[in-house]
Amino acid sequence: MIPHRQCVGCKKVLPKKELLRFVSLGSNTIAFDKKGRLSGRGAYLCPDRSCLERAIRDKRLQRALGVSSLGKNFVTHVVWRLKDETLESLHLCYKIGYLKIGFDEVKYLKEGDVVVLSGGIIEEITEPIVEKAKTLSVEVYQVPFPEYCNVCLVVLIRGGYPKKNNILKTLQVFSRLTSGGDNP
Ligand SMILES: [Zn+2]
Repeated sequence: MIPHRQCVGCKKVLPKKELLRFVSLGSNTIAFDKKGRLSGRGAYLCPDRSCLERAIRDKRLQRALGVSSLGKNFVTHVVWRLKDETLESLHLCYKIGYLKIGFDEVKYLKEGDVVVLSGGIIEEITEPIVEKAKTLSVEVYQVPFPEYCNVCLVVLIRGGYPKKNNILKTLQVFSRLTSGGDNP
């Protein structure tokens, strides 16, 4: 049986690997436990901005971790951490030649590819891309990468990318955690 855990935000019980895990390492240090292997007092959360904010507001995350407070930039730190991870995954994909950058690449979009749009692009630009992606059943993620804006607004991950599942999971988590709320 797949192990399940309860989200401290919405209280839903979900498979452990779909949730984020935070661990208290003592003296008010909280670690974001990506691989779920750190020992210590832990708490699970859906990778949703609303669950994270709710768990903090209702002090359920603090209680689960046995700390009095989390520091006012806790959410920002979590988002930054995930942003780093997402950039790392994209970089790895780029290094082995499966990441294509720029609007021109959209012309060659085909089934099995994945589109990543940088946050903050105006809808007039994104709409035709999203439309084209829809006709090809291509997944689209929009994520806030302010530091990417000068470089690339659109990236395509080619269908044959061997680590596609990993990168998709990272993108899903990042886009869920950054939609809604004030994005740092
Ligand atoms: Zn939840």
